[in-house]
Amino acid sequence: MKSIHFAAVLAAGMAVATAPAVYAKPKKATAVAAPVALAPADQAVVLRDAALKDNNAYEFVAALTTRFGARPAGSASEKAAADWSVEQLKAMGFDNVRVETFPLEIWQRGEEKLEIVGPFPQNLVATALGGSGTTPPGGVEAEAVLFETYQQFSASTVDLKGKIVVILQPTVATQTGVGYGANSGSIRRQGPEIARQRGAVGYVMRSLGTHDHRFPHTGGTRFLGADGVPAMAISPPDAEQLERILKLQKEGQAGPIRLKMLSTPKFLGTGQSQNVIAEITGAKRPQEIITIGGHLDSWDLGTGAIDDGAGVAITMAAAKTILDSKVRPDRTIRVVFWGSEEVSQPGDKGLSGANAYAAAYKAEFPNHIIAAESDFGADVVYALSLPASDSPEFTKQVGNVLYPLGIYVDGAVSTGGGPDTSPLFSAGVPVMDLQQNGMDYFDTHHTPDDVLDRIDPAKVDQNVAAWAATLWLIASTEVKFKGVAPKP
Ligand SMILES: [Zn+2]
Repeated sequence: MKSIHFAAVLAAGMAVATAPAVYAKPKKATAVAAPVALAPADQAVVLRDAALKDNNAYEFVAALTTRFGARPAGSASEKAAADWSVEQLKAMGFDNVRVETFPLEIWQRGEEKLEIVGPFPQNLVATALGGSGTTPPGGVEAEAVLFETYQQFSASTVDLKGKIVVILQPTVATQTGVGYGANSGSIRRQGPEIARQRGAVGYVMRSLGTHDHRFPHTGGTRFLGADGVPAMAISPPDAEQLERILKLQKEGQAGPIRLKMLSTPKFLGTGQSQNVIAEITGAKRPQEIITIGGHLDSWDLGTGAIDDGAGVAITMAAAKTILDSKVRPDRTIRVVFWGSEEVSQPGDKGLSGANAYAAAYKAEFPNHIIAAESDFGADVVYALSLPASDSPEFTKQVGNVLYPLGIYVDGAVSTGGGPDTSPLFSAGVPVMDLQQNGMDYFDTHHTPDDVLDRIDPAKVDQNVAAWAATLWLIASTEVKFKGVAPKP
């Protein structure tokens, strides 16, 4: 599926709804007309259509990725992008724009190379996992023990002392990303440490990618400093090459597989990262807060366009659409560009920016109406999942305004709003999820191919329209939601 013409979808959808005149001849308007007191549901339609016609999300993610490239957590580039974002948000007219810093242990990629020494010598395309350990400067050569699945690795009692563990399990593409979710915690996060505990000297995994190109996918594993085992991800075609060699080995046509691994990341000690925060102060109930955003850091291989330049741009542009309408919401809308979402930290921790935000604003949580994050690429939104609410009317209204965009209200209660909202969710804050189509997301996620070229501007527009309309309805009505965890 390539570009979808949402204006056309919208026109078709609106044929059965009210006030269709505006859709017949789309105007090249750049801003919403002068403020008029419309009912929240009507204003949500105005904002949705204003965002579809024009918004600054694509422009923002283009500028971010062009000016700063990769934005690794705690790097000078991440900081420069944060400082630039502050200037941009101020110039756009947001209130209370600020940076909040927090400490971070820094891991930096070094030299990396992986090769089959025998039985069929050749190079593999591989990259180190974030937080993984180092090989000696000259690399480490060892016999490989290959497992088709992570479960086989966990269940096996074979001696791994002095060996390199290889996990060949593929990741299946799904709309929801469930395939990635299942594999990232086990194969990428825990696998290397379990291999180390069993005496392995290296760990290699098939990338958590759903394509057949020769890109390796990085991503965080447990951060154990100098104690960690060197761990790398190979591209899917390289994993299939190893599978074929394993088959020959099983048929007695090839000897043991020996790998040579070189990976020399550095642990740079304690540095600093930051969250960027901007607000639209609510006109009537400013103490009631809606927190939205994405994460500003990215992996170092690409330019972090889909992960998560798109997410910060979509949520910011949705709020900016409201700002430009000159009609203030009743409640405060807070946009957060979280820092350091991607990287793990000592003690099996992570989400440092999200945790810093949660610690700083804990006292406000009883007044956090809802939280949501966009961190699943730049493809279209197909469903909104909401927490339980006190207003069936709200659910009906939001359904009406989103349906013409091809978005349905999911009947199930939302239990996830993205990684950076997870500390809020755990503390009882209700979360919602504008669910994006993830079928292609893990084709480029955490690879050198995560660049602006992967983003379709029309799909970004659909996202911004959905966010702007949904935000407005929450920010300008009295709807209340219920968190799943107990409120603090
Ligand atoms: Zn992300």
